[in-house]
Amino acid sequence: MRVGGRLQSATSAEGFRHDTGPSLLLFPDKYHEAFEALGTSLEEQGIQLAPVKPTAYRVFFEAGRPGQPGPSQLDLLADEAAMAAQLEAEEPGAGEGYRRFLRMARRHLDMGVPYFIDRELEEVANARGLQDLLPFLPELNVLDLLGQHDWRLRQFFRDQRLRAMFTFQDLYVGLSPYTAPAVFGLLAGTELTDGVWYPLGGFQKVRDGLQRAAEACGARVLTGAEVVGIATAADPAGSTGGKPRVTGVVLADGRQLTADLVVCNRDLPAAYSLLDHEHSSSSSSSSGGGSDAASSSSKGGAATAAAAAYGRQQHERLGRLKYSAGVIAYNWSLSRQLPGLAHHNVFLSGDWQAAWRPAARPEELPRWPNFYAAVPNRTDPSAAPPGCDSVMVLLPVAHQQQMGSSSGGSSGGGGDRPDYRPLIEAGRRRILAAFVAAGLGSDVASAIQQEFVIDPNEWEVRYGLRHGAAFGLSHGLDQLSLFRPANRDASVQGLYFVGASTRPGNGVPLCFISAKLTANRVLKDLG
Ligand SMILES: Cc1cc2nc3c(=O)[nH]c(=O)nc-3n(C[C@H](O)[C@H](O)[C@H](O)COP(=O)(O)OP(=O)(O)OC[C@H]3O[C@@H](n4cnc5c(N)ncnc54)[C@H](O)[C@@H]3O)c2cc1C
Repeated sequence: MRVGGRLQSATSAEGFRHDTGPSLLLFPDKYHEAFEALGTSLEEQGIQLAPVKPTAYRVFFEAGRPGQPGPSQLDLLADEAAMAAQLEAEEPGAGEGYRRFLRMARRHLDMGVPYFIDRELEEVANARGLQDLLPFLPELNVLDLLGQHDWRLRQFFRDQRLRAMFTFQDLYVGLSPYTAPAVFGLLAGTELTDGVWYPLGGFQKVRDGLQRAAEACGARVLTGAEVVGIATAADPAGSTGGKPRVTGVVLADGRQLTADLVVCNRDLPAAYSLLDHEHSSSSSSSSGGGSDAASSSSKGGAATAAAAAYGRQQHERLGRLKYSAGVIAYNWSLSRQLPGLAHHNVFLSGDWQAAWRPAARPEELPRWPNFYAAVPNRTDPSAAPPGCDSVMVLLPVAHQQQMGSSSGGSSGGGGDRPDYRPLIEAGRRRILAAFVAAGLGSDVASAIQQEFVIDPNEWEVRYGLRHGAAFGLSHGLDQLSLFRPANRDASVQGLYFVGASTRPGNGVPLCFISAKLTANRVLKDLG
């Protein structure tokens, strides 16, 4: 339980730094806004953002150019003219197709972010919201928004590789180009127009800057303190209309902290079990009192029993929703550089659709799977010793539930978790084979000085992620916006949520927006 959650950097004694969570800084404006909201700035906190350019991503395809066998590669370039020229050389007409695609992606971005993402839900449908939407209406095409992403990109590109390089970003939201709606083209839109950035010194700089800024605003940060229960009570004044209300939290060491409201940052689908903790339903008898929370709970036994039952029911329900991939992260310290790799690299299987199915067993992994590789020292040399590379590979696989785990990965409390070891071994072999096939060198394995791996079980243990799904709840149309779990619980007074599995969704910039929307909601509720 330390500051930063999934956003962490780990530096070895030998001087290799790995960002173990976020590695792509997208939507830089949202970072600036978050620091400004805390009365400071990135610059004031010593955080320098460097553009990742000219190559935002390098994409390695198992498939060759049409009519040619063997792997091929293309770069996502920040420069529009250079990008269009590169694509035109691949497929006549694709240069112009790219310019049209970019205009559409930018339009989705300009409309989608302020109107649907960075806005409280009730405003979306009210007069002010609709007025903001008006300028976009003449150009809106429902199929461009809701049509299947890969299919929709056929209007711009015939070559499957070109469609793939503008749709793999769907992975960030737990989808594939064959399940995502085309509106997620806004992800490629921001990468290509706002740019991809990197915080020099690693993502830990963002974490530490935020902590300093929050503390300067008066926040008190308590680390190493596991919350094991959310305490509740009946409202004696009856002002909640019969709903239980939160009275604080219970820590693993038995301490109870009193609070008028609780904003919960635990992965939302794993948070409701906290209402069902013994302290929350029977704290009056088990704690022996001594705190305000304990005495409040003792007045509200019936209500806390209701909250516990509600927590159990929500926990069950949320467990059945759709989740993003489980991810195996290989963090490698390499004794030499792989010059063929850019800062951000994506490897895409030639088995276009099947490769997106999450593998639960080694034999389900394609020969060349879809995966991502980051080499931050391309932009920031401080991430690795001279002449070396610091590499993180993310391999999407089945999450715990898809592996058939009976623990369900719900609480981080143990249980019979699935065995990822065969997938870890097979995944490493496939990745290294893809490196060889892509011409990056045949001896990469022998250059790995050190390795540490984080698998879905570890994601669950470290951060309490339900089913070990690295990016939380997925973002299909049935789990977006109105259909995504809300930032305020409707049945327990004073219980709020922030983070990737509530609204608006996954990714650091969206979590900043989530925090802003929840804070506004709390202020409104408090009048
Ligand atoms: C491998 C990986 C790569 C990613 N890459 C990117 C990227 O490139 N760009 C990007 O923008 N996003 C990326 N993301 C997504 C991004 O990391 C998340 O969306 C974001 O960090 C989630 O923030 P959060 O506050 O919702 O949750 P978390 O960061 O998980 O924070 C929740 C915190 O709550 C703590 N907690 C949980 N339960 C308890 C409890 N009972 N008591 C006390 N504390 C508790 C956890 O320990 C954790 O510290 C990536 C994520 C992963 C895993």
